[in-house]
Amino acid sequence: MPAPNLIPPEKVPAPHSDFTVGVLALQGSFWEHEVMLRRLGVAVREVRLPSDLDGLAGLIIPGGESTTIGKLAVEFGLLEPLRAFGREHAIWGTCAGAIFLSKDARRNQPLLELMDITVERNAFGRQVASFEVDIPVPALKVVAPDDDRPFRAVFIRAPLIERVTPPAEVLATLEDGRIVAAQQGHLLATAFHPELTDDTRFHRYFLHLAGWAP
Ligand code: GLN
Repeated sequence: MPAPNLIPPEKVPAPHSDFTVGVLALQGSFWEHEVMLRRLGVAVREVRLPSDLDGLAGLIIPGGESTTIGKLAVEFGLLEPLRAFGREHAIWGTCAGAIFLSKDARRNQPLLELMDITVERNAFGRQVASFEVDIPVPALKVVAPDDDRPFRAVFIRAPLIERVTPPAEVLATLEDGRIVAAQQGHLLATAFHPELTDDTRFHRYFLHLAGWAP
């Protein structure tokens, strides 16, 4: 797979002098993302209310339970503010977060409908609900040009990205071609959990989309 050139340089937002990234902290594995971001020297803010989004360079929506995250987002009045934020800023959804970003999850649950992807929840079945596999992610070369390692992808009751419709693009697949990561401009969706590894490349890739200039 050739390295995609998904975001034209002129569209990468200007670096913020005060660069803070938010992590949606309603439910799920937000803490692990925060640890990863702090390791990279990035200021982090937990987001629970619409006003928490003010001034953020980007937002991570963690894994967890997408129905719960969706319901809480509705209760906290976050649905529209998150949609507006995502039209202008980088958002990365991991696992349940990827489901929440999608336009279609084939079920009746609140979604941000920001990315032109269709997801299938719990696609790997319950008996093999969790597994790890090395996958190539050519786009990571943008932040790690000399690193040829595949990425260790950790799947936990993960969704599949069934369909990617332009302008969304495929970022990574399993060996059999099933899609597990996608990008649409400054929006990123991974079915797996980079925050549960020691590899910071995916976080750095997201920060690059958010305009990070370390
Ligand atoms: N199965 C969960 C859902 O459908 C996602 C699992 C995860 O985020 N690790 O929302």
